[in-house]
Amino acid sequence: MERLDNTPGRIVRVLLCKGELRVLSDHALQNAYEVVTRDTPLQDSSLDIEPIAVTVRCNACGFQGSPELLSDPSFHFAIPILSCPRCGAEVDLLTGRELYIGRLTVEPPPDGPVSAEAEP
Ligand SMILES: [Zn+2]
Repeated sequence: MERLDNTPGRIVRVLLCKGELRVLSDHALQNAYEVVTRDTPLQDSSLDIEPIAVTVRCNACGFQGSPELLSDPSFHFAIPILSCPRCGAEVDLLTGRELYIGRLTVEPPPDGPVSAEAEP
């Protein structure tokens, strides 16, 4: 939070990039955001959440892309199967576990430099 003090202006929007393997509901994140930003410079800023799809790479056959998904009506989400959809070998996870701030939107301070106007 200390670093926010150096930000010129007020942060009005935060973009959070969230891998689809993060089992965090957007609703829960929104609630948590509201709580942790209360009485901080981020109070009243809004949180946008951008999902990042799961992708994998197979070292056996070179496949790279989306894994097969195991979805079941009793789950609230589809679970990626971490084996190659082409050859069945184990795969490395490339994306899907991210959780980071992608972008901050800053509003200039109201008492910032006033644009000079030419006198007639
Ligand atoms: Zn493969």
